Amino acid sequence: MSTLGTEARPLRVAIVGSGPSGFYAAQPLQKQDGLHVTIDMFDRLPAPFGLVRGGVAPDHPKIRSVTKVYDKIATAPGFTFWGNVKVGEDVSIETLRRHYDAIILAYGAETDRKLGIPGEDLPGSHTATSFVGWYNGHPDYRDLEFDLSQEAVAVIGLGNVAMDVARILAKTPDELRDTDIAQHALDALAESKVKTIYIIGRRGAAQSAFTTAEIKEMGHLTDCEPVVLQEEIELSPASVLEEEQDNNVRKNMEVLRELAGRTLSDAKSRRMHFKFLRSPVELKGGERLESMVLEKNKLEGGEPFKQKARGTGETEELPVGLVFRSIGYRGLAMPGVPFDEGSGRVPNDKGRVLENGAPVPGLYTAGWIKRGPSGIIGTNKPDSLETVQMLLEDLPNLTPCPEPEPVAMLAELAGKGVRIVKFEDWQKIDAVEIAKGEASGKPRERFTRIAEMLQVLED
Ligand SMILES: Cc1cc2nc3c(=O)[nH]c(=O)nc-3n(C[C@H](O)[C@H](O)[C@H](O)COP(=O)(O)OP(=O)(O)OC[C@H]3O[C@@H](n4cnc5c(N)ncnc54)[C@H](O)[C@@H]3O)c2cc1C
Repeated sequence: MSTLGTEARPLRVAIVGSGPSGFYAAQPLQKQDGLHVTIDMFDRLPAPFGLVRGGVAPDHPKIRSVTKVYDKIATAPGFTFWGNVKVGEDVSIETLRRHYDAIILAYGAETDRKLGIPGEDLPGSHTATSFVGWYNGHPDYRDLEFDLSQEAVAVIGLGNVAMDVARILAKTPDELRDTDIAQHALDALAESKVKTIYIIGRRGAAQSAFTTAEIKEMGHLTDCEPVVLQEEIELSPASVLEEEQDNNVRKNMEVLRELAGRTLSDAKSRRMHFKFLRSPVELKGGERLESMVLEKNKLEGGEPFKQKARGTGETEELPVGLVFRSIGYRGLAMPGVPFDEGSGRVPNDKGRVLENGAPVPGLYTAGWIKRGPSGIIGTNKPDSLETVQMLLEDLPNLTPCPEPEPVAMLAELAGKGVRIVKFEDWQKIDAVEIAKGEASGKPRERFTRIAEMLQVLED
């Protein structure tokens, strides 16, 4: 029986990733009665909070305020933030295992699923991830360019991320000016020539994954008219049953019907067309994207909630110069960590990482890299709690790490010239961002390059 977690030998936990799932894993450990624990949280960026900073749309500021809870966790005794440290590159999992009794992998799902159709990589075809990262000032996407001189754009997908992308494209500069959208994005969007936005869904209106608030918002845009044709929202008999049985479907359908019942006016300069039951089968163009071929689908399978979209062979071609693919995020493998290529996740049983079907002692996972890219911020709370419960169950049998003093880790990081960004450092960066924003009437003006953030600390 180990003495881990006592005053004499506190449990040493490393959490990889400072998004919601990382913080929701730290919280129950801190709250666990009688447990002495030190938590070191690593993030590859100098700024914490994962997709709350780099994903959530800038015009939804209330959602970002959840970081106040994370601030409390990060400033509690026994917690240290190790920002600007990429696990698997700056420091290996093997090194972490020498210094920590348990590791919780909460590093999110940072890439996109592919459509797998011809023309997908033509210039003008982008992932939603890159556009979202660009308008949120994520350093990985800072230097991307999107050809907003195109008049017709398609967003593929019917989830909330697709809605975010479409809404940001549809809003006027005045609707975005007082948000914390990155300035380079605001400048580019202010010059946008986009007039027509198509939202393309593989399945039907009743199967849309967006939430009601997101679709409702489309009806209140200053200069963009949503277009929902009656024929687009006619439901199959099984979909009618889905609407009867599911409150969310019912609420979404109510909004879609209200939009479909509106008389279109020419007062607004942009239009957003909802097209359901269509799959992109080819992106066409010479030097760059010129059009998209869609195949019409029908729902098969009969039973409510089990219907599948199947191609009918009937196609149509939409002239579009920009496409944003928003068909789901996908996790990346980390060196030294088991990974399931099929699902893009770390294989696990309730958060215990599995290798060849057996738990790897002391290795756990939480959040999107554990369960896949689903759910809202709050979904990560019970998910991370489940993982921590497994860790606490295993605690009596955990082998204490051989080197609680992380000398080798510091040497590894120093050898690579890594500037570790502690939470106090982040708070300085944060304060400068907020002050820069005040000058232009924004909640904050983000640093979009890692070097700029580190420069604040040198100054
Ligand atoms: C575009 C978008 C908009 C969203 N909007 C909303 C919304 O409005 N409301 C809502 O409730 N939910 C929203 N969500 C969902 C929500 O953001 C997720 O549920 C949540 O962020 C998942 O948390 P996570 O901790 O698993 O991953 P993430 O938030 O992605 O955090 C993972 C962290 O790990 C770090 N990391 C990655 N690799 C490494 C490495 N090798 N070493 C160290 N650190 C690493 C990353 O830098 C990141 O900080 C949105 C999601 C997206 C994609």
